[in-house]
Amino acid sequence: MTLAATIRRQIAEDWHERSDRDFANPGSALRAAGKGNPRNLPCPTCKEPNKLTPKDKRLGYQCDTCARQDEGGGY
Ligand SMILES: [Zn+2]
Repeated sequence: MTLAATIRRQIAEDWHERSDRDFANPGSALRAAGKGNPRNLPCPTCKEPNKLTPKDKRLGYQCDTCARQDEGGGY
């Protein structure tokens, strides 16, 4: 393998790790709840309480259940 390819792979792996870490669950678009980002807001679609964090809301997300239904059954 060439050096360039090695570096490219390393960058891709780093990016993948970073991008995964902040999500609440694997396969979920929702942000992980945490300090300053409590999961205390209702889903705008099904009105279930405590489904979204302020960050989710700002990004226009809905809860996993509704998101899956939107995607037509998911996996
Ligand atoms: Zn919902």
